[in-house]
Amino acid sequence: MGLDDIKLKVSLITDENGYLGRECPIEECKGYFKVLVGTGLEGVGYSYCPYCGHKGDHNTFYTQDQMEYIRSAALNAISDELGKQLKKMEFSTRPSGPFGISISLKHEHGRRIPIHRYKEKALETYVECPNCGLKYAVYGVFGFCPDCGQHNSLEIFRKSLELIEKMLEMAASVEPDLAAKLVEDALENCVSEFDGFGRELCHRYAQKSSDPVKAERISFQNLEVAKQGLATLYGIDMEEGVSEGEWKDAIRWFQKRHLLSHSMGVVDEEHIRKANDNSAILGRKVIIEAEEVRQLMGGLGKLADFTYRKITHL
Ligand SMILES: [Zn+2]
Ligand SMILES: [Zn+2]
Repeated sequence: MGLDDIKLKVSLITDENGYLGRECPIEECKGYFKVLVGTGLEGVGYSYCPYCGHKGDHNTFYTQDQMEYIRSAALNAISDELGKQLKKMEFSTRPSGPFGISISLKHEHGRRIPIHRYKEKALETYVECPNCGLKYAVYGVFGFCPDCGQHNSLEIFRKSLELIEKMLEMAASVEPDLAAKLVEDALENCVSEFDGFGRELCHRYAQKSSDPVKAERISFQNLEVAKQGLATLYGIDMEEGVSEGEWKDAIRWFQKRHLLSHSMGVVDEEHIRKANDNSAILGRKVIIEAEEVRQLMGGLGKLADFTYRKITHL
């Protein structure tokens, strides 16, 4: 084998769970993420950046560390091969001639080229794409699937509902004061997670709206306001995602959460006027049952599915 024939097989290093680092080739992004080798779509020649959505040949997504590792491994192999070739050329002659001269060529192996070692970084959110099965990890929370490009906002929202359900289960086995606090927190989390989901969706798909600047500002903390915004900017009627009863219930529970955030949970006149809440008494604390929060979670799950499907298919 000569130097022309060197074929190098370099196995890239994964983290302890089998995730491989990737880096967006776009200069302004350079976003770092990881994918679990062996999951997702097979044989796709491209990747999406979870952060900026750039789609490109998957060979352009090597990280700086991986490039240096490949380079150093290649140089190492070449220098080894060169050493072997030179070794083969070694010779020496017996002293001869009137002056007894001998000639020899001997190869001394010099210093080896160091292999660039690195460790993949720890990331913040691990997701399994429901569309293609790829397991991947990103900084922050939201992102596009590197294999199929599907945005993960719905998946993240579903995961947060699972956590809220765990809070409710915990509330069933602790003292009443703590249980009440957990249920209140669960309700507040439902609203803030739904708001986070809705805002992210409108942000990612702002270009599909009639006014991208306004689309970036739709709040989902108030269902009527969100419904209005989606109708005006995207032509979507969010209320179609649930039954009339579910919509009214969700409005009432959002109003209860509003009381928790703004008046320590004490019923005020605005609540009596807006919330359609038969159990509310002016000046008393609002009552929140774990079962109500569960029903709200069911309704919000349907609203999130519906809105996601509508906006991504516009
Ligand atoms: Zn990017
Ligand atoms: Zn996917």
